[in-house]
Parts: sequence; C-alpha cells; structure tokens
Amino acid sequence: MIVVMENSCTDEQIERIANRVIELGMKSHVIRGTERTVIAAVGDERKIKVESFESYPGVSEVLPILAPYKMASKEVRPEMSQIQVLNFKAGRGAVGAIGGPCSVESEEQIMACARAVKAAGATGLRGGAFKPRTSPYSFQGMKEEGLKLLAMAREETGLAIFTEVMSTEDVELVAKYADVLQIGARNMQNYRLLEAVGRSGRAVLLKRGPSASMEEWLLAAEYILNEGNPNVMLCERGIRTFESHTRFTLPLATIPYLHRKTHLPVIMDPSHGTGHSYMVTDMAVACVAAGADGLIVEMHPNPEKAMSDGYQSLDFPQFEDMMQRCRVVANALGKQFG
Ligand code: PEP
Ligand code: MN
Repeated sequence: MIVVMENSCTDEQIERIANRVIELGMKSHVIRGTERTVIAAVGDERKIKVESFESYPGVSEVLPILAPYKMASKEVRPEMSQIQVLNFKAGRGAVGAIGGPCSVESEEQIMACARAVKAAGATGLRGGAFKPRTSPYSFQGMKEEGLKLLAMAREETGLAIFTEVMSTEDVELVAKYADVLQIGARNMQNYRLLEAVGRSGRAVLLKRGPSASMEEWLLAAEYILNEGNPNVMLCERGIRTFESHTRFTLPLATIPYLHRKTHLPVIMDPSHGTGHSYMVTDMAVACVAAGADGLIVEMHPNPEKAMSDGYQSLDFPQFEDMMQRCRVVANALGKQFG
C-alpha cells in the first residue's frame, strides 16, 4: 500500500501514519519527494483495512498494491492452473468443451445429447436438474431424477457431468452425482453456498453474476479456494448492459484480463452470453481465439421444443460444426481442444 500525503501535510501527520503502519505489523518507508511525501507500507495489506488510512489528516490518497483476493491471485501462484475432471481438461494449453441442454428433460433427451456431445469430441456434459428460473411458474428442473439421468449418461459416455447446485441443502445430493458443481450467475454472491461447495470435494464452475465486477467475482472464487478446494473454474456468461440485441453482453476482454490476474481457468458461455443460437458458434470461435480455457454451450435434439433456453441452444449438426471450427482455431494456437 502507498499512502500519498497532501502537499501541506505536517511531519507529525507523516509520523502518525508511519507509526500506524508499524503497529499493524508492516514496515514503513517514508519517501520525501520534491513535491509530495509518500509512505510505502510493506507487508501483507490484505489483513488490514487499506481504506481506513484515507481518514487520517494530511492524507491525499491511498493506493492498494496487492489484489484483495489471495489464493485466486497470480501474485500468490504465478503459473496457470490446469483442472482435469475425467477426460475434461481446462487450462495450460487445454481448451475443454462442455455441451448439453439447459435442462435435463428426459432419459431420451439427455442420452441423445450425451452421445452427440461425445461424438463431436467434447469431454463435458452439462444439464440442469435444479433450474433457477426467473418465474416460479416456469419448469424448475427434474431435481434428483435429473441427476440420476446425468449419472447414467456419464456411465455410458465417460463425459464429466456439470450441473448446477442452487442451495446449501442440496450440495451433498448434487455432489453425489455430479463431477463439477455449477454455481449459477444468480448465486455468485451466496457466500454460504460458496463455502459449502468449497467443502464438497468436487470441482466448481463459478459463473459470473451479471452485474458483478471482476473483483467481486474473484473474491467469490476466494471463498471456495479458502475452504481448501483448488479446483475452481471461472465462467463468463455475460453481463447486463444497455444493449438489447443480445440477452446479455459477452465481454471477450474478460479472458486476457483474468489471465493476467488469476491462475484459474476461464470458461466462456456463448449461449447465455448472446441468447441467440445463430450467434453462438461465431462467439465460441472468438472465445477460443481470445484464449479461453474452455467453452460451455447449450445444445438440444430439438431446440424449438426445449423446456428452457431453446432459443439459444444449438441443434446437433450446429454443435458438431461449432466443435470443428473451434478445434481449428485452438489447434492453430497450439492448444488441445475437446
Ligand atoms: C444455465 O447454465 O443454464 C444457467 C442458468 O446459467 P446462468 O446461471 O449463467 O444464468
Ligand atoms: Mn440455460
């Protein structure tokens, strides 16, 4: 942390800050410039309230140096993490592909999806059994029945199962069947749920809240890591903006930004991020080109009949085409895709 003093500050004010820094267990260096004096506090500032220094007399500005998140940060772990679940791999040259319906609807539907996902070369199967729906009158998911069907699909195909857990009480149940627990956008800041999935022993896909900042998102990841679970993937699924041509706005700059700040793999969701099936493949290709470590894409045997999110779901030939196009780009970048 750097405390920048006002031009007119007194020696007593400088000394007061320097002493407070030492009291808090850090070293303080007073640097007197020709115009300004700054006090550099050296030590782990994440344990103190950096902002509290702003209220001292004579202080002009306080500049934190360390990111407030620790285990998620590249400052603490500079090399990229690779997360592997069954044959699914994300990070460090591996771009993991996850496909499947928004919701598990029936045995025929999920088995057909699983076979098509596998045939196209993806290694993860998505499908919601507990669905967070805007309206309480919309389909809420098949719950445990849906989880059993997902486990059956894994049995046959070997695909890693990604499915959402919506509440703390359900973590044990969902963890019994799933390989990766998805925290939905609406739950990104449900801190008790984050702690519970942190203790679940399962890998976690943490979606970004549609109005959460990068820092809030990384601090949410920190809750999971802090429980001793290192297998956290961040999923950008689009944010709310003034635009209406897409359901959400999918920021590609999330990818290089997160790669600079965190070692955690970045998975992109062009389905929720656009809300239109015709945009999904182009955006998926763009995500891979921008360095994504994985993709999660909604697909359905018959999108017009889907019980949720059909308008943004690919059919099987479209999914296959998306996989082929993304593979070309990933291979051109020297990465493994699937
Ligand atoms: C989903 O993946 O189907 C879903 C509900 O996503 P999100 O939480 O990003 O809205
Ligand atoms: Mn969906």
